[in-house]
Amino acid sequence: MANEIWVVIERTAHGDMAGVSKELLGKARELADANGMKVGALILGAGIGDLAQVAFSYGADTAYVVDDGALAQYTTDGYVGTAAALAKKYQPALILTGAGFQMRDFSAALAAELDTGVAADSTNVMIENGTVSAVRSSHGGNVINTLTFAPGRTAVVSVRKQSFPEPQANPDRSGAAVTENLPGVPMRAKVVSVAPKQGAVNLSDAAIIVSGGRGLGSPENYYKLIPPLAEAVGGAYGASRAIVDAGWVPYEHQVGQTGKTVSPKLYMAIGISGAIQHLAGMRSSRTIVAINKDPDAPIFRVATYGVVGDANEIVPLLTEEIKKRTG
Ligand code: FAD
Repeated sequence: MANEIWVVIERTAHGDMAGVSKELLGKARELADANGMKVGALILGAGIGDLAQVAFSYGADTAYVVDDGALAQYTTDGYVGTAAALAKKYQPALILTGAGFQMRDFSAALAAELDTGVAADSTNVMIENGTVSAVRSSHGGNVINTLTFAPGRTAVVSVRKQSFPEPQANPDRSGAAVTENLPGVPMRAKVVSVAPKQGAVNLSDAAIIVSGGRGLGSPENYYKLIPPLAEAVGGAYGASRAIVDAGWVPYEHQVGQTGKTVSPKLYMAIGISGAIQHLAGMRSSRTIVAINKDPDAPIFRVATYGVVGDANEIVPLLTEEIKKRTG
């Protein structure tokens, strides 16, 4: 087993390095420094040359690059097959990925290919005396588990974004770029074209989310209060399942166990009781603000700041005040 921690680099729609990959490079650097290890960035795609330098600036020592048209779009066969071939060749001790929908697919399939385990959707990762462990929640966020990997095999850990701070980039840092050819992996699926979803809501990428629930009383009230506040704070708007099921808001806005898992910097829950299934999707948010007229609502148990009162009175005042202050 090589003394190396790999970070699988993800890109934004514009081709830049995704924030979660920078966060993971920072964490990998910290773990590597504490354990006498090295950091490798695994960069797969087409036309991705300059990402290696970006990876060095965020802490990578080595960039393993496979730049091939066949990897222009994510496919399980292409990405997992390539990553597995390289991991078998270089034997990293740990592979870190984000935990968005593509990387959930990737990390599980990669672990299967490497005949190892995966700690999915983790919020922390540790290495002690060469043993890798990861922290993740289960049972709707009510149980926190620490999973420990058996030594001698590559550990695969997918990590929720914003679990770690984004490090400061150092453009003067450099490293070694190792260019590899696409291994002969079967490509059963071919992406013919990609069309952006009409009116798609990117809750998973939003740094601020304002969510509303049944306490708002009606869809008219939801749209009167929630999107304007979301716009004032520069965020996306979400919803509890109760109001998605009631047809007030489309499913892509739903946060929770059967909706999106989010961990923004700021999550505002307005007229949401805080059922465990809702908490499962948002309790790792950095700051949680709850507005609810019931002081005993369970949402207050996870809230950083709680406001007990009527959303109909508080939200318009809050929106106005924020607009005034942000000009
Ligand atoms: P309620 O529980 O009815 O809460 C409304 C809240 O609004 C109350 O706390 C009330 O005090 C407050 N309120 C009322 N009037 C006002 C006012 N004027 N001002 C301020 N506050 C007010 N739920 C999800 O959200 N996401 C999921 O993914 C999800 N998945 C589920 C999966 C399963 C298998 C199951 C069984 C359930 C799931 N649920 C999910 C449903 C979940 O259990 C709750 O029923 C749901 O979250 C409740 O939504 P709510 O908080 O909007 O409504």
